[in-house]
Amino acid sequence: MRPEPGLYVTATPIGNLADITYRAVEILQKADLILCEDTRQTAKLCAAYGIETPRAPYHDHNAAKVRPEIIKKLQDGAVICLVSDAGTPLISDPGYKLVREARNAGVAVFPVPGASASLAALCAAGAPSDRFFFAGFLPAKPGARAKTLEELARIDATLIFYETAPRLSDALAAMAQTLGDRKAVVARELTKLHEEFREGTLSDLAQSYEAAPPKGEIVIIVFPPDEKPAEAGDVDAFLKAALDELSVKEAAAAAAEQFSMPRKEAYARALQLKENS
Ligand code: SAM
Repeated sequence: MRPEPGLYVTATPIGNLADITYRAVEILQKADLILCEDTRQTAKLCAAYGIETPRAPYHDHNAAKVRPEIIKKLQDGAVICLVSDAGTPLISDPGYKLVREARNAGVAVFPVPGASASLAALCAAGAPSDRFFFAGFLPAKPGARAKTLEELARIDATLIFYETAPRLSDALAAMAQTLGDRKAVVARELTKLHEEFREGTLSDLAQSYEAAPPKGEIVIIVFPPDEKPAEAGDVDAFLKAALDELSVKEAAAAAAEQFSMPRKEAYARALQLKENS
């Protein structure tokens, strides 16, 4: 069956060729055209999955020129896939303006989700994942990099960066200086033969990669700033609510866990609240 006309933003593997969805393969096979960051790179994927759909380049250097023509094809009912060399298009890759213009032109845009190095790194790094900020690539120049890091230092969340191997050590050292010497994980060559997760403080990691420069593709996960100590009011409110249902001992244990505080201290406060209630 012919797919619904529109632009399909299609994720491809970030290393391991098997990391592609059935749906992505099907839409790539059935589309009228695949827009590629690099047609030679996508040719390898197509060869592996028997995809014979015509391919055309769509990258930073030709995007402005070819966009009107692509939008016209889409308006005429074409089924077009957008892929990047690896992972999810638009994530530190071209495509944003195409998606925006397609939407403005009333064309349907469908996500075909799959791999992205950012989330692959985050989900296996062991950093808090309830709130995270994707910062992409830092500027290469030290001044601009420091300025960007100053802005990021204020964010109370895990930070995700893309980085290149030659710049890794310098970037980690700059982060240590501006973000503080936080815990971090360098995730390298994800889903590939030499996949590696290395954890440490930013300054230790900077030193270790300076001593032995790495190869391959890299994501840096930086833990959030240290948790602020719990306010006394927060602990009391938690304990009061807990004491409605739990014993003093149980409520104290729960508070100790919730606020990372000594059990003895939590018990003493719970007892006091119970006696005053
Ligand atoms: N759109 C892609 C995505 O969704 O992950 C990212 C494209 S960006 C141009 C390329 C950067 O992504 C690399 O320099 C590296 O920082 C990161 N990256 C891509 N594949 C990776 C992998 N297998 N392991 C670690 N990092 C990877």
